[in-house]
Amino acid sequence: MVGIGLDIGSTASKGVLIHDNNQHYREILPTGWSPREAAGQLIEKLIYHAGLERSDISRIYATGYGRIAISDADKTITEIKCHARGVSILHPEVRTIIDIGGQDSKVIKVNETGQVIDFAMNDKCAAGTGRFLQVTATALGMDVSELAQAEDRSQMISINSMCTVFAESEIIGLIASGVSRNGVIAGLHQSVGKRVSAMARRLGIQEKIAFTGGVAINNGVRRALSEELSCEIIIPDLCQFTGALGAALLACE
Ligand code: ADP
Repeated sequence: MVGIGLDIGSTASKGVLIHDNNQHYREILPTGWSPREAAGQLIEKLIYHAGLERSDISRIYATGYGRIAISDADKTITEIKCHARGVSILHPEVRTIIDIGGQDSKVIKVNETGQVIDFAMNDKCAAGTGRFLQVTATALGMDVSELAQAEDRSQMISINSMCTVFAESEIIGLIASGVSRNGVIAGLHQSVGKRVSAMARRLGIQEKIAFTGGVAINNGVRRALSEELSCEIIIPDLCQFTGALGAALLACE
């Protein structure tokens, strides 16, 4: 059995191929303007790296915001279900998943068999998502991958604006007034941590907690979230791939 899971996100497209339930291959590339093209490229790369032919693939399941555009998929599945499946196989002890991606954030509660029992989602506002960090990193003349290393928590400046557009203006104003850039970055991480932890508390959190999505790569947000929730957070290996992994596992079932 060879299953492929594709997670076609707003920013990044991730793919996982599972070969006979033991060999895993993964690929990531920017989604760009065409989710369909990104999906096609992912499938080609995965098949090439696994040394297989297209006819060897048993099933392709797609998730992520771009999933509906994928004509190659045998089935589309919600991100909620895929993240739950992906995290449960890696960390069966997890009961709450916090996923922060490019344009939404989610809190998912799962039971001991990895079934979703409840969830909350913010997909209306960019604050508390990867987009917020990308926009503000650009305003600071940086790449989003440089933020965690640069933050200086000893000089933290709180960011008051809830809206991404206003936060960008606030940051430009703060920098112009001469405050520490790295203190502003610490404030940005704290702002994301506060916003997402508030959503998690509203849903009700149960330990253990896992943090997934591309934003989980950022150590500053990890720390802020852990402080706001006053508990340790598990970061699964390849935290950006748990949705694609879940889709691939479901494709193999
Ligand atoms: P989507 O599925 O919506 O495309 P992802 O879960 O792939 O979202 O996460 C994308 C977000 O992850 C980006 O907006 C960015 O904020 C963050 N990100 C991606 N790579 C890195 C990195 N190397 N360091 C820090 N943050 C990152």
